Amino acid sequence: MKGSKLAVTVDIEDWYHVPAVTGSSFSQYKDVEEFFDNWSGRYDYLSKPTHRTLDMLDELDVKATFFIVADIVDNYPGLVEEIAYRGHEIGCHGMHHECAIHPETKEPLYSKDEYKQLIKQAKRKLEKATGKEIIGFRAPGAYIGGWVLDVLEELGFKYDSSVAKNSLYNKTDSDLDGVGSEPYFPEKGKLVPGTERGLIEYPWPYWKVGPVMVPTAGGPMVRLLGKTIVMSGIKQSLKRGDSVFYFHPLDIAREDFPKVGNSKKRPMYWMFKGKVAEKRVRSILSKLGNKRYSTLSEM
Ligand SMILES: [Zn+2]
Repeated sequence: MKGSKLAVTVDIEDWYHVPAVTGSSFSQYKDVEEFFDNWSGRYDYLSKPTHRTLDMLDELDVKATFFIVADIVDNYPGLVEEIAYRGHEIGCHGMHHECAIHPETKEPLYSKDEYKQLIKQAKRKLEKATGKEIIGFRAPGAYIGGWVLDVLEELGFKYDSSVAKNSLYNKTDSDLDGVGSEPYFPEKGKLVPGTERGLIEYPWPYWKVGPVMVPTAGGPMVRLLGKTIVMSGIKQSLKRGDSVFYFHPLDIAREDFPKVGNSKKRPMYWMFKGKVAEKRVRSILSKLGNKRYSTLSEM
């Protein structure tokens, strides 16, 4: 594994931020605002598992990068502040977890200007809450196009970690030709490798078995594929260069989420969450050892 480092990353969003409920072309509610206009029940399924995540990371002596949906600052008083206070890096995961491109056509869902204003507000909100400059981004749902990286660079972001090259899915507007699992400088306006620029991409790991690349960055893959495959992919990717692992506090949430929206269309989506997922995440983090861990800004 040479001297490669692994960044542990945590995506902070609640159940109603997932595309089946809000923020995408096929969502039940147009956006988070419409969700809150119509939702009178309990909404916070995030605070508890986030606290368990923070305690687990303390116990394992890991400093992570938390990609946070900026509206969390308003709806979960003190939560973002606490994550920053406990020594973790804060990155931006959109304003309301809105997808930048259409999940099927990959066409932009915003003009470049609209999107820039939105992410500028999100960056400011997170900076105000944490008192620190926000330089990292992860695209909500990992739906990303080359133009998004240009917007990020114009706003002063230094890195992105959204691109996943693998044989199962491609959530980008690019063929990702020449992209591997190691960090690279994307060509202006595109996601393929180019010459050095003010923004670096930290793509997600995969496990290459013959011609097949199995996505192993974590999140749903920890829940659906289990820890052995995910760990094989991370270890193999670390041989190629620095890599990332990610999970959501939602993955380890123990309660059932409200049944809403098009979640019936995705019956697998929340399978194996809770205690099983928490055990797997803990096991992956302890087995990989904390010596090579890093936040993304310290890569
Ligand atoms: Zn997300």
